Parts: sequence; C-alpha cells; structure tokens
Amino acid sequence: MLRNDTLDQWDRENLFHPSTHLAQHARGEAPSRIVETGSGVYIEDRNGTKLLDAFAGLYCVNVGYGRSEISDAIAEQAKKLAYYHSYVGHGTEASITLSKMILDRAPANMSKVYFGLGGSDANETNIKLVWYYNNILGRPEKKKIISRWRGYHGSGLMTGSLTGLELFHKKFDLPLAQVLHTEAPYYFRRPDTAMSEADFVAHCAAELEAMIEREGPETIAAFIGEPALGTGGLVPPPQGYWEAIQPILKKHDILLIADEVVTGFGRLGSMFGSEHYNIEADIITIAKGLTSAYAPLSGSIVSDKVWKILEQGTDENGPIGHGWTYSAHPIGAAAGIANLELVDSLGLVKNATAMGTYMKAALQDALGDHPNVGDIRGEGLLMAVELVEDRSARTFFDPARKIGPTLAGELLKHGVISRAMPQGDILGFAPPLCINQAEIDTVVRATKAAIDAVL
Ligand code: PLP
Repeated sequence: MLRNDTLDQWDRENLFHPSTHLAQHARGEAPSRIVETGSGVYIEDRNGTKLLDAFAGLYCVNVGYGRSEISDAIAEQAKKLAYYHSYVGHGTEASITLSKMILDRAPANMSKVYFGLGGSDANETNIKLVWYYNNILGRPEKKKIISRWRGYHGSGLMTGSLTGLELFHKKFDLPLAQVLHTEAPYYFRRPDTAMSEADFVAHCAAELEAMIEREGPETIAAFIGEPALGTGGLVPPPQGYWEAIQPILKKHDILLIADEVVTGFGRLGSMFGSEHYNIEADIITIAKGLTSAYAPLSGSIVSDKVWKILEQGTDENGPIGHGWTYSAHPIGAAAGIANLELVDSLGLVKNATAMGTYMKAALQDALGDHPNVGDIRGEGLLMAVELVEDRSARTFFDPARKIGPTLAGELLKHGVISRAMPQGDILGFAPPLCINQAEIDTVVRATKAAIDAVL
C-alpha cells in the first residue's frame, strides 16, 4: 500500500481536480482528503477519520455506501460482458431492462430513454434533441433556451451556459448566445421584501412572459429547470410556481425540460420531482440517483410528443446523428437495475419523506431562534440552512467572509460532511436516503455546535 505522503505528493503533481482552486491545491494550501472506504452514511479516509456524509457525495449516493447488491451486480456484468455498444439497434439485457424500469417509474407521458454518462452530457443531448425537433417541424429559428439564474445544469459548453451561476461562466466565454436566464424562484432572496409569496410567483411568471415576448416566442425552443433548485441554493419552489410557469410555456409552444439529476429517484420524497410538483415535462434529465453513483450513468427521458417527431426526422433524414460510445453501458445499466431494486426494497422514497420531516423539525428546534439563521428550508432530504448577518434587519454577510465554507469546515471537526453551496451563505444537506433518526440527530447536533462556535 502506498504511503499517505507519497499519495499526497502524486495528487498535487498529477491530478487535475474539478471545481478546485488549482493553485492552492498544488501548493498544499487547500483542504484535501483521500477517501478510502464507505459504509451506510459514513465514509472513512486514509487517516482513519470516519465522517457522516450528510451530502451523499455530490447528492448522488442515495442508497448509501458499501451496498454489495450493487457491487456484485457490477462484477457479474463485467465478467459476463463488460461492454458492447448500443448503436444501430444493439443492446444488452441490462440496458433494455433498465430502460423499462425507468419508464415504469416515470410520468405516464414519457416514452423512451437515451442513456448517457452524467448529467451534463444528458442535458447536452436534450438541447440537441430540442433543436432537431424544431428543425423537423420546419421552425429553424425556434432555438433559444431559457434557464434560471441559480439553475445548475452542468459544465459543458451548452450546459455550462444554461447553468445560472457566474463562477461557471467566468473566463470561459459563457454563456453561449442561444441561452437566456430568467428570475430564480428563490423567495427568501426576493427582489423586494414587501412581496408576498403569491406576488413573487406572479413576478417570476411576468418576467418569464416578458422575456418570451421581447425575444419573440417563435425564437424560444425550451425552458429548463430543476423542480427544486439544487446547487444554486437548495430552494424548493414557492407555492404555485410551476402552476404559474407551465401555462406560459404551453401558450408559446415552448418545450419544458425538467432537470431531475438531483430530484429523480426519491430525493424529494416522490419518485420524481415532476410528480411532486405536478410538472408535465417534455424531457426529463436523470443521473445521480439512477445508479446512486456506483457507476456513471445518465438518461434523457423523452415524451411521446417529442419521440414522434424524432422518429419522423429519421424517416426523412436517416439515422439520428447523435451517439456516445458508452451510451447504455452494460456495467452502468447493471448498477442502475440493482440500485432501483434497492430503492424499492428499502422503501427509500418513503424514508426520504419521513426523515426529511424529522430533520427539518429538528433543525427548527435547534436553530429556529438563532439570530444568524435566516431560513431553514427543504423538501424530502434536500435541505438548507441559510445564514444571515442580522435576521430582523434582513442583512446578509459579506461574501468575502466565507461564512458557508467556514461553517462546513467546523462541521467536519464534529465528524459531519455538509456542503457550503457556491453562492450565498448556505449550508446544504442531502444525505443518503437511507439515513435514520439517530444519524440525523448527529447532523443536527454538529450543525448547532458549528454555528455556535463560528457566529
Ligand atoms: N443537472 C443538475 C440538476 C445537477 O445538479 C448536476 C450536477 O450536480 C448536473 C446537471 C450535471 O451533472 P454531472 O455533474 O453528472 O455532469
């Protein structure tokens, strides 16, 4: 076994880490950790430090770590057939079975699954399909995509553009010209504190409609949104938001892409966020919870309405010119099957509701009166504590103080991994869906201790 200091050195010299301050990491100034094992909601690093992972990796290890049902399924598939492609009608038992399992769980208007590897490439696929769709319908000018500020849809050229967070645009010449951003459905940070929740929803809808009319509805192809905002702040939508947005899209014949990379397969306490909020999407993006990250796999679930036009397109133009070598990879598919079986047999969707309710109440009890806690919010097991400088005056911390990262660092001292969300002073929690009450108590105790220590 390699020594820790050798690994540390090789890491700094060779590995290019995503979303990392490269210079600080190379100089050994940034926090780093070499993770060795995982079991249930816990991971353990090379130094033997055991941590309760209250963010499930990057909100993806939904069934928890160390599930032999999934690793055995992966090993069996690798021994039987590690790879065959899915081009020109090829398939494997695993990929075909998983596509059926997904459609069995998806909203009724969904028709087919196109498999990718991660959320970013699935959303790239979605935008290409939307453009293809409008070209086949003879509307070549209908191509712009509306996303929301604070939305997160990936890090590719198009998906990094759709992402409404400045960090993902800065110095990359993004966003691309076809992308527009509208108001984030983030009531706590509404533009005018006098607005009621209903007024704020009306404001979001009016902003969207004004944008569509300004640009010309004949130029707008699709609207993409996470059912509940993830990386941009972990924000469930205000009451009535999706009910207000969807008729506007329908009226202007704009497709709706529900990005369910985080919310798919139980995170909000429903199988899909679309089901949770009555969203009737034309395309649904899935990834993380599809395999609980035991293997890379994503999907674009396409509705009947879109599928019919895609079929027509290939009758007119020949095979669709879109394919990844690893689409429907059998090892990923085997992981997906075993994972979805576990989600069902362990009752994880129900557990997300029960534990989410318990956790929100426990956070309220522990921190509801704290002068620096502005908002405790969540749906299912997607939860946030938002810190403010002064609760009654509604003033926010100077971002330079980095309250979020400082608090997340303090929580680590208490053995708990949370996530400081990239914007604002938001401490995020999205634990494995198998978490229990005693483990939630540990998270809440650590959070209170960290906030008391820092603020
Ligand atoms: N969409 C959403 C809602 C996400 O949260 C993410 C990643 O966090 C992505 C897309 C991109 O997924 P990936 O990182 O697998 O490319």
